[in-house]
Order: sequence, then C-alpha cells, then structure tokens
Amino acid sequence: MANVKDTASHLGETLWDVIVVGGGNAALCAAITAAEAGARVLILEGAPKAYRGGNSRHTRNFRCMHRGPLSVLTGSYEEDEYFHDLMLVTKGKTDEGLARFAIRSSEECLPWMEAHGVRFQPSLSGTLSLSRTNAFFLGGGKALVNAYYNTATDLGVTIVYEAQVKHVHLEGDRFTHVEVSVAGAPQQSIRGRSVVLSSGGFQSDIEWLTRAWGPAAANFLIRGTPYNRGVVLRDMLDQDCESVGDPTQCHAVAIDGRAPKFDGGIVTRLDCVPFSIVVNRDGDRFYNEGEDVWPKRYAIWGRLVAAQPGQEGFSIIDSKSIDLFMPSVFPPVKADTVEELGVKLGLDGAKLKQTVETFNAACRPGEFRPMELDGVATEGLTPAKTNWARPIDKPPYYGYQLRPGVTFTYLGLKVSQDARVHTLRGPLANVWAAGEIMAGSILGQGYLAGFGMTIGTVFGRIAGREAASRVS
Ligand SMILES: Cc1cc2nc3c(=O)[nH]c(=O)nc-3n(C[C@H](O)[C@H](O)[C@H](O)COP(=O)(O)OP(=O)(O)OC[C@H]3O[C@@H](n4cnc5c(N)ncnc54)[C@H](O)[C@@H]3O)c2cc1C
Repeated sequence: MANVKDTASHLGETLWDVIVVGGGNAALCAAITAAEAGARVLILEGAPKAYRGGNSRHTRNFRCMHRGPLSVLTGSYEEDEYFHDLMLVTKGKTDEGLARFAIRSSEECLPWMEAHGVRFQPSLSGTLSLSRTNAFFLGGGKALVNAYYNTATDLGVTIVYEAQVKHVHLEGDRFTHVEVSVAGAPQQSIRGRSVVLSSGGFQSDIEWLTRAWGPAAANFLIRGTPYNRGVVLRDMLDQDCESVGDPTQCHAVAIDGRAPKFDGGIVTRLDCVPFSIVVNRDGDRFYNEGEDVWPKRYAIWGRLVAAQPGQEGFSIIDSKSIDLFMPSVFPPVKADTVEELGVKLGLDGAKLKQTVETFNAACRPGEFRPMELDGVATEGLTPAKTNWARPIDKPPYYGYQLRPGVTFTYLGLKVSQDARVHTLRGPLANVWAAGEIMAGSILGQGYLAGFGMTIGTVFGRIAGREAASRVS
C-alpha cells in the first residue's frame, strides 16, 4: 500500500471538483453528498489515520426534530419545542432563521445517516434521559466516523491523512487552490473548483485561547482532538471573511483534573457535582451545586471552574452519595476524615473541614430524592445549595479535582443558509463551510446537547451539494 507521502505527491496533478478540508462529521457528510452528485472529491484530513474524525469521533448522539416516533426516537419533538430549548441555552443569542432551518432539516438527516452506514441505539437509561430528543449512535462517534469513511471510499472519494491545510487561496471572490503539507513534507498546491471548509474550531491552539481568555487558558484541558487549531479559520479571517461569535465563547464542562491535556473524550466528565459541595483551592464554596438537574447544569461548570484561582475546583462527597452518579474513569481520592481528604487533594485540611461543617450546619431535614429536584436546601448559607443538600458526614469521604474541559470554540465563519462563506465584500463564489467552523452562526452562547452533530450534518450535506452543483 502506498504511504501518505507517495499518494500526496500526485495530488497536485489533478483539478479536483470539490476539496474538503477536515475529516470529521461535517467533512464526511459534505464529501459523501458531493461524490453522490458525481463530483471528484478529495478529503484533506490533518490527523493521522488512527486519529481521524476530529471531535466527531468522541460524540454519542445527535438532536433531531421528528413529528412522531422515528428510528430509535420516541414520541415527537417538534420545531417549536426544539427552538425553545435552543433559545433557553443561548439566551436568545442565535440567528433564528438559520437555527429553525437547521432544526427542520435535522428530521431528514436521521434516515440519510442510516442509509449511509450509521446505526442507532436506544438511549441508555440513567444517562441524560434523552430518548425523545437525541438519537444515540451504536458504537459512538467512532463507529459513525468509520461508517462514513467506508461509504466515502466506496463512492471513490480520495482521502489523504496527515494533510495539514495551511492556506486557502482566493483570487477576488473565487477559491483557486489550497496550500497543504502532507506528513510534514514541504507545502504543495492542490487546485480545486470548489472547497468545503470543515476543519473545526480553534480550541487546541492554546496561544489563541490565551489571547482570548488570558493566562487562565494554560490550565484548560481540551476534551477533543489536538488537531483543531483554527489554522484555516485564522487564514480565512485574515482574508476578510466575515466572522461570527466571540472568541471567549465556547462549550466547556467540568472534567476530572487528571484528564489528559487533549482527547480525553466523554469518559473524563464527572457527574458528582449535584451530590457534593464544590470548593476552590482556598477551600471556599463558590456556586449552588444543586441549582438544577445535572443535564441542565453540567455545561456551566466549565466556566465556573475557569473563574476560580488556578482554574481548579474540588468536588467533595461522602459515602452516602458515591454510588449516585455514573462511576468515574479514575477512582476518587479517598480518606477517613474530611481534613485528611483536604490534605490529600492539596488543600488546607482544616479550612476544608470548617467549610464542610458550616455547610452541614445549614442543611435542613427533607426527603432526599436524587433523580428529581427535591427542594432539600440549605438555610442561611451563601451560596445556597437549593436541592440535594445533605450533610457530608458519612466516612469514608471522597474528592475529585475539577478542571475546565473545553469542547469547542464558537468564533467562526459567518455563513448563509446555503452554507456559503462571505467576505466583508460579499459572498465567495465557490467556498462553503460546515460544522464547528461555522457553528457560531447559530450558537452565540450556551449549548444544547447533540446540536453540534446536527449543525455538522445539516450544513455538511448542504455544503457538499452546493459545492458539487457549481462544478462545470
Ligand atoms: C468529548 C466530546 C463529546 C461530544 N459529544 C457530542 C455529542 O454527543 N453530540 C454532539 O452533537 N456533539 C458532541 N460534541 C461536539 C461535536 O464533536 C462537534 O460539534 C462536531 O463533531 C463537529 O464536527 P466537525 O466536523 O465540525 O469537527 P471535527 O469532527 O472536530 O472535525 C474537524 C476536522 O478538521 C481537521 N482539521 C483541523 N485543522 C485542519 C487543517 N488545517 N487541515 C486539515 N484538516 C484539519 C481535524 O483533524 C478534524 O478531522 C462533543 C465533543 C467532544 C469533544
């Protein structure tokens, strides 16, 4: 079998109909759609083959509108309810036209996905209870990505790994070629009649994150691929493409502080917060851990922890609660006393003991119901804990260090409904964008579980269709 460098040495000889930059969900949906329309398609995936598929390979589900039971989805989930859910999390920071369009289009995506190799499974009970709204991929995002790569290969799409696109060349309002380095070889030009940009956000460029967030960004962990460094996004912004979104807006959750810097994926998420108290490195609580059920609150804890000294938090629980949440991938730190636990976590043990005692004294009797808002709250404590507030008093005690885990950034390229990229002078003739790189066009802030894959699938398919249709 030819190695990537050998394959790459001939790429420049061809004028490709559609060049797709990136190798995740949005890229694959675009490539498959364009190939089915008869286009000669080239995928340039920056990652090596073993790591292909970007953040998409970490996913579990996608959120789908449906007017009745559809595949594994139960009941119905109609446009207005879906849009309402989006408005709640974005606090209105969305483009209503684009958002409703994405929502409506999601309905036809599910059968399309099934027809192109994706298999679904009913959602697991006890996880995020999303059986009506979110369709879960059998085998997770990795299986989805593998299925799409197989489909693309069967359709004759050429795929090159370790192909880092450095520059997208524009002449006036037209794309002419990309500059790409394959497996570290010198840059070469590859010409195309059209290009689809689906190379993700910029969260893995820590310097860029630092410019947006300040030095705190050095302590962030990146939940997904290290290959989404925003190289193409930066290049397009430097060429006067219209941007959307704020560089500090991103999806971030609180994850286990022992997670790797990149690619820890979903298993490093911790679901213990509602049954714990969370303190910062000074041993002080800083937010209501029981504000709402975890699926509605997990996404705010990344930012909350990011605002604490050293960007760390510590979730403290006792043995009454240790089995109430999904087990963690790394075992918790364990001790017989709260003070000892504090010391093991690198905190001032006496201070932690005092914080726990103050919290315990503020707890009031009530019927503890872990699966619903039980109103078992503290009294006279700031910040209050408004649900599941039980004293932390049954040894052994357990603790987890929390860090902000960035999922993806929102600053991106502004697109119109046909996924076309615009410059400040007007639309580009043959450049489209799909997925995280344009998600900020819809997600101004906040996040709705499963919507990332919806955006990528909807706009990936449109970008592929449009790009193929311009081939003359
Ligand atoms: C842990 C985790 C869990 C998630 N779970 C879900 C979920 O269950 N449901 C959901 O909807 N969303 C989820 N998301 C978000 C979701 O992953 C994204 O919204 C979605 O995958 C974006 O798809 P994409 O194709 O735009 O980007 P990606 O899948 O990240 O693909 C980007 C691709 O671009 C390539 N690339 C980057 N730069 C270059 C370059 N210069 N040249 C060539 N190639 C380049 C990368 O290698 C990668 O292949 C999750 C994210 C993470 C990190």
